[in-house]
Amino acid sequence: MDTHILGSWLQIAQPVIGSPWGQVDLRELASKETPASVLGPVGWLLKADANTTWANWYVDGLVDRAAYIYDEKRKFAQLYKTVKGALAAEHGSTPKDELTKLATAISVIAWEEIRLRREIYRGRISLRQKKELWYGSGAYPRCYLCGYRFSSIAKNKFLQLSGGSVTHSPGINLVDFVRPRGKHATDLFPQVDHVRPVANGGATSVENLRLACGWCNRHKSSHTQIYDAPSAYTGLYRHGVLGVINIPRPLWIIRIVKMRGRCEHRSGCTATLDNSELFVAPRRVTGSINPTNCAIYCNEHDPWRDYRFVGLALYKRSFAKYPIPRTFSLASSL
Ligand SMILES: [Zn+2]
Ligand SMILES: [Zn+2]
Repeated sequence: MDTHILGSWLQIAQPVIGSPWGQVDLRELASKETPASVLGPVGWLLKADANTTWANWYVDGLVDRAAYIYDEKRKFAQLYKTVKGALAAEHGSTPKDELTKLATAISVIAWEEIRLRREIYRGRISLRQKKELWYGSGAYPRCYLCGYRFSSIAKNKFLQLSGGSVTHSPGINLVDFVRPRGKHATDLFPQVDHVRPVANGGATSVENLRLACGWCNRHKSSHTQIYDAPSAYTGLYRHGVLGVINIPRPLWIIRIVKMRGRCEHRSGCTATLDNSELFVAPRRVTGSINPTNCAIYCNEHDPWRDYRFVGLALYKRSFAKYPIPRTFSLASSL
């Protein structure tokens, strides 16, 4: 790694971190390429998610699709005309046929979204669709986002089989403090997730449906990109052994675990989301877990294996709110 490049980039970033309102400093930082070592192993995902966000903003900035979604009388021709007009206003000197080509391409992208969103309402998933999903998910169905394997109690409840009327959670009293699935009883049961969210035009058809655990489904919600992670703090966890830990935003975990999809232990482990539950730990153990510092492990290779699962009651007690008082002491809080 070229530490010289990293050092000079950080020097440019430093005034912006300290005061993010200085335009000269911001422009200087924007003009520099971010060193790969800063973005970490999922740098490609961070860049792709940023680009997708920009692409959506750009299309919406040419034509507000909301009006089309709610007014079925508006047709493609009108959308195309709007897009072409907006492009022509900005790129007046561009040859007409080039402008037409670009306007067509953008309009097709925009219209696809409108078409789907017009069609779809969050319909109830039928029992037939649930069965199709469950039995089409292998011998031991798992959450497609985190690999959690559903219990037989969860199966019975999901498929309305005998024994499925029980309302208690399927016997889990320990939670992963990074991903506290089990905080709510529904976390442990399968839910039907729209891969492409309904809010973004995702259809309620089996091709767009997957089994997700309640925790992943609840936190994924309609978000699709890392930068969509709700900004509400997730808090500080006072771990009895590891100390005070910054808890990552759930959407970061969901997105990165799903996109990496396998245990990253250097042994070349074969655990993937299809055969194992995967856990998130910091890549550099001294740092906090964030999108640039996440490592994914199976249970066997999890460096936090002995510390990860804590009693639910203890978990709730150990969740500290910002800010930690200056007088905060781990000893006095236990
Ligand atoms: Zn899950
Ligand atoms: Zn492993």
